[in-house]
Amino acid sequence: MRYISTRGQVEPLTFSQAVMMGLATDGGLLLPESIPQVSEDQLRRWATLPFAELAVEVIALFADHEDLPTDTLRTICQRSFSCFAHPDVTPLVAVGGRRILELFHGPTLAFKDVALQFLGNVFEYILARDGGRLNILGATSGDTGSAAIHGVRGRQGIHIFILHPYQRVSPIQERQMTSVLDDNVHNIAIRGSFDDGQRIVKDLFNDLPFRQSYQLGAINSINWARILAQAVYYFFAWGRVSAGDAACRVTFAVPTGNFGDIFAGYLALRMGLPIERLLLATNRNDILTRFFRTGSYGSAEVWPTVSPSMDIQRASNFERYLYYLLDEDPKQVTAAMRGLDQSGCIAVSAEKQRQAAEIFTAVAVSEEETLQQIGSFYRDNGYLLDPHTAVGVRAAADYPEAICLATAHPAKFGAAVQQAIGAEPPLPPALQGMLDRPSRCAVLAADAELVKQHIISTLPSG
Ligand SMILES: *Cc1c(COP(=O)(O)O)cnc(C)c1O
Repeated sequence: MRYISTRGQVEPLTFSQAVMMGLATDGGLLLPESIPQVSEDQLRRWATLPFAELAVEVIALFADHEDLPTDTLRTICQRSFSCFAHPDVTPLVAVGGRRILELFHGPTLAFKDVALQFLGNVFEYILARDGGRLNILGATSGDTGSAAIHGVRGRQGIHIFILHPYQRVSPIQERQMTSVLDDNVHNIAIRGSFDDGQRIVKDLFNDLPFRQSYQLGAINSINWARILAQAVYYFFAWGRVSAGDAACRVTFAVPTGNFGDIFAGYLALRMGLPIERLLLATNRNDILTRFFRTGSYGSAEVWPTVSPSMDIQRASNFERYLYYLLDEDPKQVTAAMRGLDQSGCIAVSAEKQRQAAEIFTAVAVSEEETLQQIGSFYRDNGYLLDPHTAVGVRAAADYPEAICLATAHPAKFGAAVQQAIGAEPPLPPALQGMLDRPSRCAVLAADAELVKQHIISTLPSG
């Protein structure tokens, strides 16, 4: 299997090369040159596999055996998913007639753990095999940073530097990052906003001599390995519902921000998984909802909401879908993305919009509806939804049989739950005592040069 760029200017890559490159060097996103097809026989066989074994089957279709031997892949998958607190990894539960796919049993209690545990192990394997080092640098407003830190803590050949805005993340989120005391984990609190952190990271990536001599790498949601790991739980959930009967078609409701999670569902569909419909749920930051309804993808202001991990008005993985919608033509994708930069908008034809809407049904959910959904679901079933999951459940109001992806544990978003039901959610064992744990974090002014010097002086020499 070879990987190509949505913009067509990258020589075909192996799986390992695609994982290490992250963002394509031509500014596009990497995709497999063809999508492997899964037969009804395979689907039937996969329907009863435990999660980690299913992951090996799905992922092996996307990497050559010489590049990633199946035995190695099996070890990587077993390691990645054994740190989940539930034996099913991503259990499918029935709550008052609703199907909920719980994706929050990983170390940081959000679905990003599924992909980042896998990515951490893949990085470590490739670095050990090919030699070299990787220094991951990223800015976070909370969730991604902690999942990334837990994905690479203690791993050989990797250091990670995560910037967060000083005293502007929740106390739990702060401790989930700074209480990780492994030698290769470096937290930096920036005296400034999340945007200041992002700007500093961008400046340092644009400092090419620094980027190259220090092997800087990114962890954002554009890495292909993340998409692939997320596709696994669509197969897993389908198997549990269908018992392997290919005539059984299912609908998934997916709380969406950067279009990574739902693109993994689209990939599964293109591989042959019997998916009836993908319900794309956004909060009031609704650029994607507007696109699937009107065919016009136009930026707007970002509003802060109670589902902050979806406060996005330019979805980084959307370009991957656009590639398929625009007939896998890199020229059209390049022109569309250039248009987006210049005019702030992409418009597709009515025919293309209809084609997209046959698969995706998009719903934007307001703040009020989100809080109401948490409240009514709790009153009816005694089950707490986190605000992101609540957006998805609300969007699926007319689809009672849909499988709703639960993307975070409610205890991570205690303030929103408090607003909805008048009480804070109980802390799960993983978070108990969190605030009393010892922590380590540098506090720096919002200045790229200072951060650069800090990175240089922190890394072991040689
Ligand atoms: C990141 C995140 C999302 C959005 O996922 P995308 O892949 O960016 O669409 C939804 N819910 C939670 C809790 C998240 O952390």
